[in-house]
Amino acid sequence: MMKVSVIGSGIGGLSSAIRLAKLGLDVSVFEANDFVGGKVNEQWFGEYRFDMGPSVFTEPALIEELMTLCGKNPSMFLYRQLEESCRYFFSDGQQVIVPAGMNQTAQTFESAFGENRQRTERFLKRLSKNYQALSPVFIQASLHRLNQWCNKGVFRAIMRIPYYGMTRSMNAVNNSRFKNPKSAQLLNRMATYNGSSPYRTPGLLNIISHLEFNEGPAMPIGGMANISKTLHQLCLELGVTFYLGERVEEIKHSENRVIGIRTTKQDFPCELVVSNMDVHFTYERLLKGLHEPKKILRQEKSSSAIVFYWGMKSSFDQLGIHNIFFAADYQAEFEAIFTTKTLYADPTIYVHITSKVEKGDAPEGSENWFVMVNAPINVGQDWDSFVSETRKSCIAKLSKALGQDIESFIEVESYNEPRKIESVYFGKQGSIYGNSSNSAFSAFYRHPNFSKTLKGLYFAGVTVHPGGGIPLALNSAKIVERCVREDYGLHA
Ligand SMILES: Cc1cc2nc3c(=O)[nH]c(=O)nc-3n(C[C@H](O)[C@H](O)[C@H](O)COP(=O)(O)OP(=O)(O)OC[C@H]3O[C@@H](n4cnc5c(N)ncnc54)[C@H](O)[C@@H]3O)c2cc1C
Repeated sequence: MMKVSVIGSGIGGLSSAIRLAKLGLDVSVFEANDFVGGKVNEQWFGEYRFDMGPSVFTEPALIEELMTLCGKNPSMFLYRQLEESCRYFFSDGQQVIVPAGMNQTAQTFESAFGENRQRTERFLKRLSKNYQALSPVFIQASLHRLNQWCNKGVFRAIMRIPYYGMTRSMNAVNNSRFKNPKSAQLLNRMATYNGSSPYRTPGLLNIISHLEFNEGPAMPIGGMANISKTLHQLCLELGVTFYLGERVEEIKHSENRVIGIRTTKQDFPCELVVSNMDVHFTYERLLKGLHEPKKILRQEKSSSAIVFYWGMKSSFDQLGIHNIFFAADYQAEFEAIFTTKTLYADPTIYVHITSKVEKGDAPEGSENWFVMVNAPINVGQDWDSFVSETRKSCIAKLSKALGQDIESFIEVESYNEPRKIESVYFGKQGSIYGNSSNSAFSAFYRHPNFSKTLKGLYFAGVTVHPGGGIPLALNSAKIVERCVREDYGLHA
């Protein structure tokens, strides 16, 4: 039985471990931290539970697919489909609740922003068709293996090229489609779902809006951490071995093939390695001396974040599970994140409150606020002062919007920032998604899911193809499985 080492137990690592174990391989997962799940982990601060990283969950069918693969009833993975996609608070005081679903979204765009309902529906339908066309060739297949992306769907994907908006930015496409700048701002926000700027990412990335508005977000029962718990459990049932608190320091190779790994505790021989570590650090730290794909590794990085975890000793009826308080000048905010890499005084603030539905996540009458602003990557800025200034601006802005002094309700608190994202999850410079998608061809500058230099080396997770977010990390594992099957003649 071939031995596989998976480096990292993020969503990409866990789902790769499941898929390769199902192929009959002997899989071990090495995780530097003493917890499983990477960024999808939870912590308790006092009586408040927090999901520490992701909060928006789409495409639960990808988890159900893994359940089915493992012979489980997919309905055992419990989640709720949310009726609201998000509540928006604009800088002029307008508040808009956007419900999930294509018709409902179009109706809201009409009533709140004066957009033509049919026109909005047509736009959202177009995004749905774009998504369906691109998914089999772009998202579920390796772009670097002709036999994978050149499938029967490729013709459909090519025929739709005029509808993607490849040559214009997301913002340009959205502004040309909608008359009210607020409609465009709302759609532009989707660029942040893979850590990019809507003023630079191509209009193609509007397909994210299909997931957010047409399908709508879901929420795992028990919180986002339940995704990693579920995948971890599937791994254990398949006999995957976990080595927690054991950092991998080297991928050993000889004659252009992988022969094992060296960890902080042992040498571990194996024929296959799947790295779920940020691809930049995989080369820098584990493959020293190996020829690097420099062009890919030097691309602009995705954004990072400052997150406050606040246990609030009150409840706020104006707020839902997902809430956005927009910056007045959205473009200036992205300039600060990507160009000057500085603090922006009026940031867009995202507030996520799981205790709205998960009553055990906060004491009665209280709420667990996950308060996030997008931030530049770490290039040596003074993060202590950035965090303290951002805290002040969040408190001032939220207090103004909600009409009460929110600081007095903060009972417990913690925070996260780019340096911590780098040191805890090994994200290069604190970037959340590896490379940004701030250019028309960024998809082609993501690292493939396999090594072109070393036989037996594969890559999964958000820093490689197909990109950022939990669904894409799950798809990266699907591609890894397919590559391994092809390379070793294994059958599903
Ligand atoms: C604040 C924040 C908000 C986010 N919001 C969303 C969201 O709303 N929706 C969404 O879909 N996504 C979101 N994301 C991104 C999401 O977290 C990732 O898409 C997802 O977790 C998949 O990550 P991954 O598979 O690349 O692995 P990661 O979670 O990055 O895990 C990698 C793992 O590898 C381990 N590791 C690294 N190097 C080594 C080594 N040498 N040896 C052993 N172990 C190692 C790390 O410790 C870590 O556990 C967010 C992320 C953050 C930080």
